[in-house]
Amino acid sequence: MKKVRTRFAPSPSGFLHVGGARTALFNFLYARATGGSFIIRVEDTDQERSSKSSEDTILDSLAWLGIHADEGVREGGPFVPYRQSERLDRYRKYTNQLLEKGAAFACFCSGEEIESKQKQARAMGLPYVYDGKCRGLSSADVQSRIKAGEPFAVRFRVDQGDILVEDLVQGRVKFDARLIGDFIIVKSDGFPSYNYAVVVDDHEMEISHVIRGVGHLSNTPRQILIHQALGFPLPVYAHISEIVGTDRKKLSKRRGATSVLFFRELGYLPQAFVNYMALLGWYPDDAVEFMPSGELGAKFDVHRCSKSPAMFDFFLVEKNSTPDDEGGIADGDEGVETAGTLTAEELRRQINQKSKLNWLNNKYIRYLPAEETWPQARSFIEANPQGAALMQKQAAKIEEAYGAIRVYLNRLEEVSDYILEIFQEKLHVEEDGRAFMQDGRYRKLTQVFLDKLGIEKPEDPEAFSALFQSLGKELNVKGKDLYMPIRVVTTGKMHGLELPALFSLLGPVALARRVQELQALIYS
Ligand code: GLU
Repeated sequence: MKKVRTRFAPSPSGFLHVGGARTALFNFLYARATGGSFIIRVEDTDQERSSKSSEDTILDSLAWLGIHADEGVREGGPFVPYRQSERLDRYRKYTNQLLEKGAAFACFCSGEEIESKQKQARAMGLPYVYDGKCRGLSSADVQSRIKAGEPFAVRFRVDQGDILVEDLVQGRVKFDARLIGDFIIVKSDGFPSYNYAVVVDDHEMEISHVIRGVGHLSNTPRQILIHQALGFPLPVYAHISEIVGTDRKKLSKRRGATSVLFFRELGYLPQAFVNYMALLGWYPDDAVEFMPSGELGAKFDVHRCSKSPAMFDFFLVEKNSTPDDEGGIADGDEGVETAGTLTAEELRRQINQKSKLNWLNNKYIRYLPAEETWPQARSFIEANPQGAALMQKQAAKIEEAYGAIRVYLNRLEEVSDYILEIFQEKLHVEEDGRAFMQDGRYRKLTQVFLDKLGIEKPEDPEAFSALFQSLGKELNVKGKDLYMPIRVVTTGKMHGLELPALFSLLGPVALARRVQELQALIYS
């Protein structure tokens, strides 16, 4: 069997968002699972929209996620160059073949002429199809116009009939060639169009499987026609499902179509993010979702991808969507989003705490050795001036505390508040907490809690929660009436640190001391 070779082919005109990252991941994993190779090719033939800085951001994002290429712009490989703008001579060679065969022709129609015909079609509610004006020009005519310096594009000749796309995920899809019409393969600036360059490169780079977003399905018949005209065998196509938000709408600029690097800023681990993305449209047959030890690269199978939309459940459902939500990611734009996206701050406000991403991230934070995630956790602590000051004084103790509280974190960023609460020098009680505690029942409850701590001296979180339960039973209280007064008398706040986390860090003696100090402050 032919060796599996997959590729991710971003256009460098923005940053890498979740959709693009998932496409890259599926290609990467399929190559890993089959012992094949994964290639990164940069598709920068749209000179106006492409930039080196975008290319760098996309490649850095992939590196952060651990999606490493076997061949590509940074890695090199047998098919260099891997950047399309450096491959123009290759496209030219095939263009000449297509022109000679009559499979393509020079088109002298100006941009304005085409635009006005497009407008007319729109006005009549029809899709625009090229009208074939330059199709029948004689070769003498063509030569003399070219000699005279008239600008021209090259169009691919599309004859009538059906074009069948056999897709691993979408099944068999039929396209009517009449609705495609003769399309441009080389623009008047001499650069190839996307559909053309992709075919030449996929062939020359011996790509066996084209795995990409379903938004590209409508480009596929054009690409198939070019493959056939050049006598190239077809790759296997797999167009993977669309990704939608919790509102079941396509991810948009304001909802999820945001740089994957923001997720790093929010404290997600790349391993968790990758595990999460792998489940967007694919599901392992053993239904085990947490795959920390290389299972992904062993189990992933593109044949098991589902064609129904995959839900990216990172955001809360938004009650009032704004008009800004309407625009999804443009088709033909696999890896990148251009402008006007959310900032990390806006993202943070919309986090769905119960998302699968949070669940997985917590599992990875627990699973990985604390030393491995500590450098990241530490940078979150040090980003806060108070945290930085604490670190200067007692870095070793804080690192030790991190080992105990990390199990409570959904995102590494949360570590900063935890550490501040534990290590703050002066305790204080917030106003709402003080007011809440004025209920006489709570005064008694907190005192019994303190006594129990002294008598039972729980040693581990299990013993601590047993104490907690017996406290509730004894005084016949539960729910908020039980945990809220204890929270206020141990932290001074009505929101924040989980009680077991606090216990893990302080132990019974220091916790009791804290209760005494806060009791004094509350009831002074
Ligand atoms: N450059 C294209 C894009 O960014 C790649 C599409 C493909 O994979 O063929 O969408």
